[in-house]
Amino acid sequence: MTEVLRRIDCAKEYIYKWKSEGLSIGFVPTMGCLHAGHLSLIERSARENDKTVVSIFVNPAQFGEGEDFNEYPRDFEADVKLCREAGVDLIFAPDEASIYPDGHSTYVDVSGLTDNLCGRARKGHFRGVCTVLVKLFNILKPTRAYFGKKDAQQLCVVRRMVEDLNMDLDVVGCETVREKDGLAMSSRNRYLGSKEREAALCLSRALNFVEKVIASGERNVNAIKSEVLGFISNQSGVRLDYFEIVDACNMRPVKVLKKPCLCAIAAYVGKTRLIDNFYYE
Ligand code: AMP
Repeated sequence: MTEVLRRIDCAKEYIYKWKSEGLSIGFVPTMGCLHAGHLSLIERSARENDKTVVSIFVNPAQFGEGEDFNEYPRDFEADVKLCREAGVDLIFAPDEASIYPDGHSTYVDVSGLTDNLCGRARKGHFRGVCTVLVKLFNILKPTRAYFGKKDAQQLCVVRRMVEDLNMDLDVVGCETVREKDGLAMSSRNRYLGSKEREAALCLSRALNFVEKVIASGERNVNAIKSEVLGFISNQSGVRLDYFEIVDACNMRPVKVLKKPCLCAIAAYVGKTRLIDNFYYE
């Protein structure tokens, strides 16, 4: 039985009941429009916990001006169906006014780790992410929370926040789920027309190319970057936002490749901004 709750107080009642029975709670925060990537997190949570909660909330605080908050794909009925099939116990889908009522004034900032990559490209993005996550963690009191490595910087920032704020939960990172041809699954892939869908492959192909360059023995990050720039500039309809190689622990750019690091790419395909990465570890 999958319960669908919109109110914070109702969700808290469920959680209190489960907690008082000593049950563990796995939590998968999402913005909905669920796909196989989300489902892999949900399935892992269901394996590792007594109860699984999925939140569906398109969080306005993590979108900047001119970004796609209004256009972000939403398909609540399909999401509920997928959650039911996956055995989710509770869907928490609050509205904007209950998460950010008038007078809401508290925000959570993780410094340093958010200076590069998407933190640099999308000012205020991680502040929005962290703020909503703290609220959701406080409401849902999960034992474990599940995040995709596709959003590697987010995973790193959330781990830091949970440790810094002494929050009582485990953060679990899950592998990126891809389409057969290599495109990392994303709700935003729905925006892509057929030509753009083809062009979008250049992100995963660029990362495969980087792996080959590394395998050939190249360790100089500037040299790797200029090869990637050359690779991407040949792709029509694609505008590179960034390609960076950063230390996987602190998200700072490195000059010479050193394990563990994160090779991360963001690019616009038409108007759609997509990200992908791999860990060199
Ligand atoms: P979103 O709905 O895009 O906010 O994503 C919710 C969660 O699903 C985040 O932890 C994402 O990292 C994760 N996720 C999104 N796409 C994928 C994917 N292709 N593979 C694994 N996890 C993913």
